[in-house]
Amino acid sequence: MLGRTHLIFGLLLGLFFINFFNLGNVFILFVLLGSLFPDLDHPGSLISRFNFVFKDVSKIISKTIGHRTYLHTLEAGFLFSLLLAPVFSYFGFNVLFSTLGFFVGFIGHLFLDSLTRSGIPLFFNGVKWNLFKFKQKKHYGLKLIKTGSIEEGYLDLILFLLLIGLYLF
Ligand SMILES: [Zn+2]
Repeated sequence: MLGRTHLIFGLLLGLFFINFFNLGNVFILFVLLGSLFPDLDHPGSLISRFNFVFKDVSKIISKTIGHRTYLHTLEAGFLFSLLLAPVFSYFGFNVLFSTLGFFVGFIGHLFLDSLTRSGIPLFFNGVKWNLFKFKQKKHYGLKLIKTGSIEEGYLDLILFLLLIGLYLF
């Protein structure tokens, strides 16, 4: 999925949670971070283009573990939530809410990517070593939408309308 779709879905998830669970607005920022984070394995992604540090990190990740491999798994969601929790806390954010927001966004990203044709590996064992690089072995998901296609455009529109609905609600 494109960064745009992940961003809209992240906003939707964040807004849903703060509306129904009475969380502060800053919660949305962490959901957005989690929503974009898994695509750090692709140098062309929205999060990788954020600044030169992210760009370099994403180049290293894409050259070593590759796109849609380990970063597109549930284990990575848990692992990075745990690793980033002390960082969020260090910067003065409520550790529980920031980490939860990040995790929710991360899972939302995996869900959206599971709707695409190639699906996601979902677990670490869904990745294989092939031709001297890591590749996706399992392709979990509904596989309905081709990334960047007109169908994704329709999905964006639906998510956007839901977002407006939730905002007004
Ligand atoms: Zn992705």
